[in-house]
Amino acid sequence: MLLNGQILPVDESKVSLDELIFPSLQAARIQAHVLRLDKIHPVISGNKWFKLKYHLLRAAAGNYRGILTWGGAYSNHLVAAACAAARAGIPITGIVRGERPVTLSHTLLAAQKYGMDLLFTSRENYRRRQDPAYLQVLAGEYPDTLMVPEGGGGPEGIRGCQEILSLTDTRSFTDIICAAGTGTMFCGLLQASLVHQRMTGICVLKGLEGSDYEKDRMPGQNSRGGNYRIFHDYHQGGYAKKNPDLIDFMNNLYTNCGIPSDFVYTAKMFYGTLDLVQKGYFTANSRLLIIHSGGLQGNESLSPGTLLF
Ligand SMILES: *Cc1c(COP(=O)(O)O)cnc(C)c1O
Repeated sequence: MLLNGQILPVDESKVSLDELIFPSLQAARIQAHVLRLDKIHPVISGNKWFKLKYHLLRAAAGNYRGILTWGGAYSNHLVAAACAAARAGIPITGIVRGERPVTLSHTLLAAQKYGMDLLFTSRENYRRRQDPAYLQVLAGEYPDTLMVPEGGGGPEGIRGCQEILSLTDTRSFTDIICAAGTGTMFCGLLQASLVHQRMTGICVLKGLEGSDYEKDRMPGQNSRGGNYRIFHDYHQGGYAKKNPDLIDFMNNLYTNCGIPSDFVYTAKMFYGTLDLVQKGYFTANSRLLIIHSGGLQGNESLSPGTLLF
């Protein structure tokens, strides 16, 4: 596939399927493999590439002057979009939540280094990012600009995430597990999964239990009779919140299994998955496909020496 006449900025063939060897899995007679999307690119990492792909192709094909997108100071999406747009030669502006801080986060500095124009906006304005009236005003200020929703969501994002399950042969897995933020990746995976596969999402946002999270995110697209479940018990205090236990878990997972994880998404997902194994959620002889959705750059906001990787 070509992007603006260039080859894709990432190498999807670098994805690997690594077996996860863990005592509780063996005890429960469950096999687990990790689909390492983190390996495709150090910055345009993991699911953010798949969420961005069709937005970028659209921007490249449609005579747009540039891209406008949204994110917070630690957004994996902003830095991935900045790097991918630079590679494709498409100018990009990032609207960042909140006033400009005195010192920019590592993520924002990196985005800026890739040429992203950072536009800081009040939290109030940021909240209007899906408001059609507001978007119309922005469209006036940024003519011929493709607006890519926060995180690379929307139908393009879902479409890209459907491709994750075709990166390798995933047909024999009984369960597919991923972290869920906006739920775009979950939705794409659910659509691409097979009838005999159950989808499990570990939500990393707080306060959505009992909400219409599932219904809102899977609007009429689940033709598979509800063969999915989202857990809200593993956010560990909320989005991007961390604690010493989680950090220990990350270091142990790396030391014992060779899998690096990030404290915002994948660590909570692995933690939740192994807890669910212990609680008997997966039956014996299940074959789990755990999606490593990348995001390791987020660990750079931790103090040096916190992690062993
Ligand atoms: C953004 C992100 C997610 C969440 O994806 P959604 O489609 O928003 O649910 C999961 N893992 C990582 C590493 C991410 O960067």
